Amino acid sequence: MSGIFSKIIAGEIPCYKVHEDENCFAFLDINPNAVGHTLCVTKKEVDKIFDLSEEDYSQLMQFSRKVALAMGKAIPCKRVGMSVIGLEVPHVHVHLIPLQAMEDATFQKKVSLSPEEFQATAAKIQACL
Ligand code: AMP
Repeated sequence: MSGIFSKIIAGEIPCYKVHEDENCFAFLDINPNAVGHTLCVTKKEVDKIFDLSEEDYSQLMQFSRKVALAMGKAIPCKRVGMSVIGLEVPHVHVHLIPLQAMEDATFQKKVSLSPEEFQATAAKIQACL
């Protein structure tokens, strides 16, 4: 049975899509630490990031870098941070988080956005890709 991120990739569950290539998919985190918080997910449903093959790992990092560079242009922030957690969803994903302060990286402080704000944020990042 496929997990929630595979269902998002397949279009069976809605998301605020940011980008996609042959191997990876990016969409906005639904419970963001900061505006623009994006998840970059492997299309292959593997649980732990360091179980990826070197090739799949490199592809995910290259994809995440491309998305992060666009985020840095689109979202006002000091820098874009990267975290890998995976305690909630066992499907490899990189958190890309626009940072103004250390607390934006702690997953303790959350922001709430309307559907329109999510949509506009995804569009802004897409425009910088
Ligand atoms: P973790 O597995 O600990 O890295 O956390 C999983 C992340 O996925 C959390 O930040 C959630 O807010 C996010 N998340 C879970 N379900 C969805 C969803 N349907 N759409 C977007 N983000 C999600």
